Formats: sequence, structure tokens, C-alpha cells
Amino acid sequence: MSINKTPSGIHAVSHDRPLFEQDVDAYKSKGKLSEPTVCPQCGAVYHEGRWQWIETSADADKESCPACRRVHDNQPAGFVTLQGPFFNSHCEEIRRLIQHHAEHERAEHPLKRIMAIENRGGAMLITTTDTHLARGIGEAVRHAYQGELKVDHVSGENLVRVHWSR
Ligand SMILES: [Zn+2]
Repeated sequence: MSINKTPSGIHAVSHDRPLFEQDVDAYKSKGKLSEPTVCPQCGAVYHEGRWQWIETSADADKESCPACRRVHDNQPAGFVTLQGPFFNSHCEEIRRLIQHHAEHERAEHPLKRIMAIENRGGAMLITTTDTHLARGIGEAVRHAYQGELKVDHVSGENLVRVHWSR
């Protein structure tokens, strides 16, 4: 399958929204983590200033990564809602595209994960541990199927709501 046309880790800046890197994120570690630190839940390792899927020594410090903390607290950073008549007749295909996109992102970036996919009254709601993943999912779906994409960043919080409909 070659449905993911977005180079990993690079998301086109949407025409109407800037990037929001300076936002306060309660799930970013306040203090400096010692390196290496390993997440006891998922095994991601903090090294050279970022979480990575690498091996580390057994005596590394242990602390939950931001993605596992969000999952534990059930605090998504991204909400993606998909709906519409076209969506209803293609929902399995679209779900596969989204899962493929998310797996690819997670393989490169340990903190980018889907938390849950739920069906709610004819719509699909996807929650993510990372705002960029939510945007990326919306952009991947629009890239493949056109439709209407709307991205609302909640000002002052590390939270994004993405709506796609067709
Ligand atoms: Zn983790």
C-alpha cells in the first residue's frame, strides 16, 4: 500500500493556521530528564532530547513517556471526527488508511499514537496522543478522498480538533 504520501515527520503547514510549537503542554516533562530514561509502559527511550525506539541499558532511569501518561489519564491531545454520506459508505477503507498512517508515524515518533477509534452515531471519533498526528490524519484523509477538512487549535492548550466530512 502506498497511501501515505506525507514524508514521515513532515506536515505541510496548513494555509490558514500557523504551527503551535510554543504552547504549554502539561505532558511535556518540566524538568530535564536524565539520559537515557526508559518508559516502563511502552519501552520508548529518552535520548538526545527526544523519545526514540532504541535499546538502552538496564540501569537507565525509568519514567513514563508523555504518550503513556496521556493514555493513562485518558487525556487526548487530538480529536478527529469523520462523517458524511461518503464516509459512511467507505468507513472501513478510510479506517485502514488512518491506521496505516498512524502506524507509520508511531514507528518514527514514539509519542504519536492513536488512543481510541470509536463509532458515534454515524461518525467516527479518533483520539490521539499528539496534535500533529491528529492534523496528519485529517490531511491524509483529505489527500486521499478530498472532502472538507477543518482544523481547530484550542488556543493556549496543546489540543486540536480536526473535522473531516464528505
Ligand atoms: Zn511510554
